[in-house]
Amino acid sequence: MDLLQLTNKNIVVMGVANERSIAWGIAKKLLEVGANVIFTYRKERSKGKIDKVLANYPDHNTAVVECDVNSDESIAKAFTEIGEKYGVIHGVVHSLAFANAEDLKNRFVETTRDGYAFAQDTSSYSLIAVSKAAKPYMTEGGSIVTMSYLGAERVLDGYNVMGVAKAALEASMRYLAADLGADNIRVNALSAGAIRTLAAKGIPSFNQILHKIEDTAPLKRNTNQEEVADMTLVMLSQLSRGVTGETIYIDCGYNIMG
Ligand code: NAD
Repeated sequence: MDLLQLTNKNIVVMGVANERSIAWGIAKKLLEVGANVIFTYRKERSKGKIDKVLANYPDHNTAVVECDVNSDESIAKAFTEIGEKYGVIHGVVHSLAFANAEDLKNRFVETTRDGYAFAQDTSSYSLIAVSKAAKPYMTEGGSIVTMSYLGAERVLDGYNVMGVAKAALEASMRYLAADLGADNIRVNALSAGAIRTLAAKGIPSFNQILHKIEDTAPLKRNTNQEEVADMTLVMLSQLSRGVTGETIYIDCGYNIMG
């Protein structure tokens, strides 16, 4: 029995930089279950990597489209291209974020106006902009999933301006869920545990974070790309059809500990 019912569904996956990206783990599983995966990328370098791994999936219906979420023009161009090619979008995975390195390294009080606005624009506002651009093509309803982190609600060392951006991301997710529910579009956030990716490299003392989670989390280990991908597929699928506006933790239970 096909519980997920994602075969031939058109899913936009944003945020594959390389094979370590959380978004790549998600895309790989989507391809395995027969979804049509539309990748968006920001840098040519990422496109090269996506094209290379997609060579292993020659029989799948895929597309690779440029989209820089800091630009309304780029978002509009990308989603028009996707909409014209696929007609209907059934799901969007928003798995991207960025902040200036100095805003993660310096004391939080030193956060600059520009650095704050840039982190918010890239990591939080982009969810609203992308949802707006995808909505005209989500004519059969659907699911939008974004990636958050525990730093949205707790002060975590070195997460600084990104923690504030993730708090705004989670609040935006709830407002979008309330607004788009009438269109049968669900919007949820997954709060992933720490995973070694390119983005994680920017976070000082990442190794210590991984060790602390291993010691403290109920499951006594860290999560991984595959576990986050599995839950993302659930959130994109009809299995989660009654769930919207939620932040769901895939962190081996770490968030419940004192
Ligand atoms: P990653 O570096 O592989 O992915 C980040 C992606 O963001 C990259 O593909 C990058 O190109 C994209 N991006 C940045 N600025 C962009 C822009 N202006 N336009 C378009 N794309 C842009 O790292 P990742 O860990 O897979 O991160 C994916 C998401 O998961 C992020 O939102 C991150 O905050 C979140 N997350 C990561 C962890 C972790 O420990 N790795 C934990 C929880 C949440």
